[in-house]
Amino acid sequence: MNALLLVDIQNDFLPGGALGVPDGDQILPVVNQLLTLPFDCIIASKDWHPPDHGSFAASHHENPGKNILLNGIKQILWPIHCVQGTYGAEFSSGWDASKVQQVFNKGTDKDIDSYSAFFDNCRHKSTGLMKFLQDNQVVNLYIAGLATEYCVKYTVLDALQLGFKVFVVTEACRGVNLQPSDSKQALIEMQQGGAHLISVNEAAKLL
Ligand SMILES: [Zn+2]
Repeated sequence: MNALLLVDIQNDFLPGGALGVPDGDQILPVVNQLLTLPFDCIIASKDWHPPDHGSFAASHHENPGKNILLNGIKQILWPIHCVQGTYGAEFSSGWDASKVQQVFNKGTDKDIDSYSAFFDNCRHKSTGLMKFLQDNQVVNLYIAGLATEYCVKYTVLDALQLGFKVFVVTEACRGVNLQPSDSKQALIEMQQGGAHLISVNEAAKLL
């Protein structure tokens, strides 16, 4: 079975959003193109934080960008983003989210962040994604979304570790690039971990 997993394509991660990924909107037509391909299932993740989430700089009276320890784990502080039930947390209307069969929420526990769509950053709690994929006998997982060097990368690395064959559709990913080469470096790391970096056209040929 072939599944498409779209990571965090939410208003707050698009230009103009609270944590807008530069050029993040450029992935939208590519995502819509991906959605026309014959995947057996299409799923998506949402960053879905309570209003006082521990990854928010405001929760610590700090400025975004600072590194802190959040319950003993290194955490970069972000602007308030993707608060549950807000417009910023909704999927962008620029892609056809009606094709998504199931959504997996992450970052719902205020005391820990979750970059991966599978587990929190401590790997203590699962979002249910792993069980869903196993129940649906998914072997090949195609992944795209935002942002390349955070939620896409950690989702891809977890998927590889869990034994899925992973294809990253790079045209449909964009990074924050706090350092200019962050996205590029993340893609290299995913490839070295065993992920296949592909285009939409290559995905179409494989399916
Ligand atoms: Zn977040």
